[in-house]
Amino acid sequence: MKIQVADLDFEPLISYETIRERVEALAGNINADFSGKTPILIGVLNGSFLFMADLVKQLTIPCQVSFIKLASYHGATTSSREVREDFGLSVDIADRAIILIEDIVDTGNTLHYLIAQLKQQNPSSIAVCSLLLKPKALAYTIDELKYIGFEIENDFVVGYGLDYKELGRNLKGIYKK
Ligand code: 5GP
Repeated sequence: MKIQVADLDFEPLISYETIRERVEALAGNINADFSGKTPILIGVLNGSFLFMADLVKQLTIPCQVSFIKLASYHGATTSSREVREDFGLSVDIADRAIILIEDIVDTGNTLHYLIAQLKQQNPSSIAVCSLLLKPKALAYTIDELKYIGFEIENDFVVGYGLDYKELGRNLKGIYKK
């Protein structure tokens, strides 16, 4: 069933049930890989807030949660190259295992910028967990990209935290244009 968000129509792509199962599996991998460690999960706002919430509830290892706010999309449906930092990290990440939580990796520009910034603060490790990845749009090799929920085509998507013109973040599932 099609839905409308602002001035555009979207169709269902991934149901909440499917997302829930995949998030559980990703959490299982993280629990195993970070056993004996206390990672800091850093969510990239705004889009990652629902994914972060569902993911951490499935983690059994001790972990800290923090957020950073960046923006490279400005109300459009194509990625701009400029990355803007709205607010930075409030936690000391030196010698800590970092797991960056992303909603979606498109060109990889945001992640490329962010990883370079975080490395300057000397964390012991950086891994990235992204709910969505558009492999055909990816313009960088990002070795840190270890956990991926779903690979999707180069469609513009909304829902489950992702917006179009700041709307649609509250949709349970993911929809494509
Ligand atoms: P990148 O820097 O990898 O090109 O883009 C990453 C950011 O662009 C994401 O964190 C997200 O904010 C935004 N973005 C990329 N693709 C989409 C999309 O299909 N839908 C929405 N709502 N945002 C997207």
